Amino acid sequence: MFAFDRERVEKNVEKATTTDLVNRITAYRGGMEPEALEIIEAELRRRGVDWHNEQTAVNEALADETGAALMCSFCRAPAVEQSWGWHWLWGKVPIFPRRLRYCREHANALHAKRIAHGDESTTRKPIT
Ligand SMILES: [Zn+2]
Repeated sequence: MFAFDRERVEKNVEKATTTDLVNRITAYRGGMEPEALEIIEAELRRRGVDWHNEQTAVNEALADETGAALMCSFCRAPAVEQSWGWHWLWGKVPIFPRRLRYCREHANALHAKRIAHGDESTTRKPIT
């Protein structure tokens, strides 16, 4: 077992963005050390962030069978949507379908791109 490295966590939390910290304390809460949660809560209080308001974002997040939030394929935010995409070889040849997950921000970017390309067939799936 590793001892909890308080100093390392504090340094990491200090450098993290507020969004990242809110995600950690809400969506990924289950996988965190209680000491780390304490440090993050203290840091958010210091920044004047009321993360309780952020719970709605987490309720929309996709979760695995254990209830742990799933992460966006493109960033560390919780995923709210998933779809199949192609894994591209050298960005040119589609090789195999791959399941991609999107946080709200990346999902919005994806939909905007599809609409710009006139592809209206891919509609937003309801979040379950
Ligand atoms: Zn994302």
